[in-house]
Amino acid sequence: MEKKTRRNFMKTLGASIGAAGVLSGGSILSACNRVEEVSGDKITLLTSSGELVVVDRAQLKPAELPSLSENQLRGRKGLPGRSWVMVIDLSNRNARECMKACQSHHQLRPEQHHINVLQMQDSEDTAPYFMPKPCLHCDNPPCTKVCPVNATFKREDGIVLIDNERCIGCRFCIAACPYSARVFNWKEPRDAEKYEGVTYNIETNVPQKKGTISKCLFSADRLRDGKLPSCVSACPNGVYWFGDKNENAVTNGTTKETVSFSKLVKEGAAYTLMKELGTRPRVYYLPPKDQQAVPIEGDHS
Ligand code: SF4
Repeated sequence: MEKKTRRNFMKTLGASIGAAGVLSGGSILSACNRVEEVSGDKITLLTSSGELVVVDRAQLKPAELPSLSENQLRGRKGLPGRSWVMVIDLSNRNARECMKACQSHHQLRPEQHHINVLQMQDSEDTAPYFMPKPCLHCDNPPCTKVCPVNATFKREDGIVLIDNERCIGCRFCIAACPYSARVFNWKEPRDAEKYEGVTYNIETNVPQKKGTISKCLFSADRLRDGKLPSCVSACPNGVYWFGDKNENAVTNGTTKETVSFSKLVKEGAAYTLMKELGTRPRVYYLPPKDQQAVPIEGDHS
């Protein structure tokens, strides 16, 4: 059903998405094939194939968004009563097991990452450290506000997701995210043949689709099954804490220890990235305590 609906949707949109001025107010417009009336008011649009076309404003009509399946609706709602948060401890040595587990869970190509593990150094006089950077699942996310087709959204439980059945690949959300947390599927996804005919799961973004957006999902499907996100479980070095802010509890993926979320962030002097932007991330960082003890050189395990 989804494939058919999406194809029709893309066809309907045809020469629609284009100049931002034309699309102001969030309305979705599409050109009619048959000219019924002419206003004389011409506008220039960029088609999805990258062609500039001129149409009369009278020929534009609102496009219908494809209807949502049960699964899509359930995935959009999220888990009732939950408020997911992640705490990343920069004191602990990182390993790239978290990236590998994430890539495998979300059918990502080797060059695609939902988590970028950056090498940081705050000044010449301080030691370097690793900083994993996933989507921060902001409570005031600029990315969702610019989507013209409501393909990316924030759920009740705090997770920001993408519906790739709706995504038209305009990439406005990539431009809007100040943390560079989104990736574009420029090519066919990894193991595309293996996933042929598999029903799309909005909570994993699998099967991935060429020409759409992808990003960290906090492993929403695993949370539904009562498991920790795949990166949190796979990390061997205790870097990630994950849990429910409503329960004031976070669990370490390596040690399985559960502690008070508020105590951990308060006593550890946690911070969020670019606080001044007002995006209110759900991912917190505990500053590295003993940077001299963090070996970086050649650590690509
Ligand atoms: Fe959106 Fe970027 Fe915030 Fe993730 S980190 S919710 S993609 S603005």
